[in-house]
Amino acid sequence: MTTDVLIIGAGPAGLALAAALCDAGLRVEGVTPTDPTTPWRNTYGIWEDELPSPEFASMLSHRWSDCVAYAGGQTLRLERIYGLFDNRRLQAHLLHRCTRAGMRWHRQPAQWAEHTATHTEVTLQDGSLVRARLVVDASGHTPVFVKRPLAIEIAYQAAYGVVGAFTRPPVRPGRLVLMDYRSDHLSSEERRAEPPTFLYAMDLGDDRYFVEETSLAHAPAVPFEMLKTRLHRRLAHLGCTVAEVEHEEYCLFPMNMPVPYLDQPVLGYGGAASMVHPASGYQVGAALRLAAPLAQTLARALSAANASPQQAIRAGWEVLWSQERLRKHQLYLFGLQTLLSLSEAQLQQFFARFFRLPVRLWGGYLSNTLTTAEIMQTMGRVFLAAPMQLRWALIREAMRHPKPLLRAAGLLPILHTPSVI
Ligand SMILES: Cc1cc2nc3c(=O)[nH]c(=O)nc-3n(C[C@H](O)[C@H](O)[C@H](O)COP(=O)(O)OP(=O)(O)OC[C@H]3O[C@@H](n4cnc5c(N)ncnc54)[C@H](O)[C@@H]3O)c2cc1C
Repeated sequence: MTTDVLIIGAGPAGLALAAALCDAGLRVEGVTPTDPTTPWRNTYGIWEDELPSPEFASMLSHRWSDCVAYAGGQTLRLERIYGLFDNRRLQAHLLHRCTRAGMRWHRQPAQWAEHTATHTEVTLQDGSLVRARLVVDASGHTPVFVKRPLAIEIAYQAAYGVVGAFTRPPVRPGRLVLMDYRSDHLSSEERRAEPPTFLYAMDLGDDRYFVEETSLAHAPAVPFEMLKTRLHRRLAHLGCTVAEVEHEEYCLFPMNMPVPYLDQPVLGYGGAASMVHPASGYQVGAALRLAAPLAQTLARALSAANASPQQAIRAGWEVLWSQERLRKHQLYLFGLQTLLSLSEAQLQQFFARFFRLPVRLWGGYLSNTLTTAEIMQTMGRVFLAAPMQLRWALIREAMRHPKPLLRAAGLLPILHTPSVI
């Protein structure tokens, strides 16, 4: 039996796409090393306006309308609603859509793939074979099949967090703190010489809070020990300590993995397709939103007369990485590079200007819903609002690494190194 699509991986990206493919009427099978119902351990946050449909609002365990950021000596109100997923409900919802379509899961890691003109045969760890017209690799940031150009310098988002009870509220009750860059608890030498980190924190109700010391991006990754020490020092400065630990989160993932080769014989999705937003680290919203359009494109391509898997895979990559998306990605890479080059003080000035833009611009920038021209406008407005010293730092960065900007402006082609197939 050859199924239509084989999904490798049952994380948020794999399950979102599997559910959408089942809805689109395709025959879908999945491969996952553990049961697909195995709970996801990460805490997944999302802006409410990023949810693909109102139905998903019921899969949030928490919502905050009191959202703030602290940067540059200011408290910046973020006029947007932020939510935290109830992973169990989200996972159950996606799995239900798979199960009602009769989707079957193979509980083995995928190890090897053999491609022909009509199908791909995947070998699992126990030696069994699964055949599909098309394979989607959604196995995370270190994909089993998707090939990408060699990465030169990868920046990582790293964070250490605690869900638990505290001797005093670490943030104002009812509040979500997206970024607290205040650093009075550090010495001036630490602020100057060490990577900047911020607090991401929220009130979970019932006297429970989630606090996480986060390095937005750094190459190499900021070590967990440093994040842990900083979190406890910050809490002490706020006058509280952890009274009871319910869950500890160790977060580490790459922000700027190269875009995969777009002419390879498998399609990627989620972390495997480098879908992480390079300037924010968010991805789950994109994986949920793009699942339906991608599934419909694949269903159309596979049902066309003389359909070939290669054509369907190309059409799929085009949804994920169209020229427009590639150009926007270049701007986000420039944004990431700029953030990496700024001192702690400059970073604070930068975010103080960024979050004072109209919500349509800063929100669209973070959610990747702006056009290339709008992203440029957003960046231009931050530049114009910036103090002179920060402007010089931004100009220096643009002159040192002009290629992403030139590529985004269409003045340099967006090249992909030759394919490995
Ligand atoms: C602690 C943490 C917190 C995060 N918080 C957020 C957040 O709040 N919001 C946000 O948008 N993003 C967040 N991210 C970033 C990103 O969205 C996540 O990394 C997300 O889990 C990626 O989803 P994914 O489905 O692509 O990969 P994964 O979640 O890594 O899932 C990959 C799946 O593939 C399976 N797999 C691996 N190898 C094989 C194989 N050989 N065969 C078969 N299956 C295989 C794995 O078992 C797993 O089920 C966070 C990341 C971390 C680490």
